[in-house]
Amino acid sequence: MEQNYLSDDVFEQIKDFNRRKLTKQQKLLIDKLILNEDLKIRYFYHGLCKECKQPNTGYKWCQSSVEHYQQNFKNWTSENSDVDKFIQESQINAKNHNEKLEWIEYDKFENIEYITKGGFGTIYKANWKDKPSILWSEANQSVALKSLNNSKNITLEFLNEINLHLKMNGDISIIRIYGITKDPKTSNFMMVMDYADNGNLRQTLNSVFNSLSWFYKLDILQDIAYGLNVIHRERLTHRDFHSANEKDDKVYGVLPYVAPEVLRGKKYTQESDVYSFGIIIYEVINGLPPYYDIPHDEFLVLKICQGLRPSFNIKVPQLIVDLFKQCVDAIPSKRPTANYLQKIFRQWWSDIDDDIDSEIYKQKSIEPIDFTKLNINPQDTGKYYDDGHTKDESQKVTTTLYLCLENLTAAILDEN
Ligand SMILES: [Zn+2]
Repeated sequence: MEQNYLSDDVFEQIKDFNRRKLTKQQKLLIDKLILNEDLKIRYFYHGLCKECKQPNTGYKWCQSSVEHYQQNFKNWTSENSDVDKFIQESQINAKNHNEKLEWIEYDKFENIEYITKGGFGTIYKANWKDKPSILWSEANQSVALKSLNNSKNITLEFLNEINLHLKMNGDISIIRIYGITKDPKTSNFMMVMDYADNGNLRQTLNSVFNSLSWFYKLDILQDIAYGLNVIHRERLTHRDFHSANEKDDKVYGVLPYVAPEVLRGKKYTQESDVYSFGIIIYEVINGLPPYYDIPHDEFLVLKICQGLRPSFNIKVPQLIVDLFKQCVDAIPSKRPTANYLQKIFRQWWSDIDDDIDSEIYKQKSIEPIDFTKLNINPQDTGKYYDDGHTKDESQKVTTTLYLCLENLTAAILDEN
């Protein structure tokens, strides 16, 4: 008989397990009790909902979440039916916690501070007491409030921009959007987003990655591999799979993540996504941005095309080094698939602390980067990351880079 949901009996047996830290015995029991692969994957990645007694369907998300939100529709309004509908739809269609928007009353924000004004509108920084916490911004309640000029007559442009952000919310790298609010003085609608100093998460990532254990590094990588696999299963490519924020000079932030064949003008493929993932492996494991110490210019483009790859500054299990090398192989067909990456990272993550017979357990050596030894100031690592380029410098960029930029833009436009 096909098992489509967990029976109460199975739920009772596994409900107190810590899915992040299963013992060998518990793993065996799970394998015996949950035969359906889909249910098992949902359990491993998203845990159990104690209310529904089923594995969650997404990050902090279960079947009944949608019902909870629907029941709450009557309790809030933006006083604009288009915006209400837009937020409600995001909640109904969400497949995980990150994909839904919320209506957030303006009085939830404190210390609202003007930051900058551009053609699009105005950005403020504010404190949001109820901000949900995630791994890398736990202690940080700052958000950016981004208004669009004259959004009181809500424009399609505003909602489209929100939609675009929302699609990328699961990515550890993209500035997260939480919802919509309205400034009662101007009646302008505003997006509520993460506020990252210098417009970049890099420094937070630096401090986080360097204090993470192998277990958590593998946890992050298996999560990203899982996301990439989902995208590839739907026959899409991720295109701008990288950890820089969206900025005007987008290509500088992404350059280290772009596969050499794409730098030479070929189209983005699933293989080129895997290359980008390879660079992410390097970044998560090493705790440093790729090529942090050299300018991101036409020479770097050339060097990457000639075979330059970032190298680890710390002792890394050979299994991981080998996989990294495969991912960034110059020949796209030699790179592994996202499906394989998801499976192998899950396996390693599961074994690294617990399975003393596994190869990854034997190979691990915890040796965090000692910045004093390397003579690197963590503050400097963002230098060439995406703040290093002034507008003047960007005009010096050669045709190669422009080609790359054009390809990137075209690819992104294609997708939307
Ligand atoms: Zn539930």
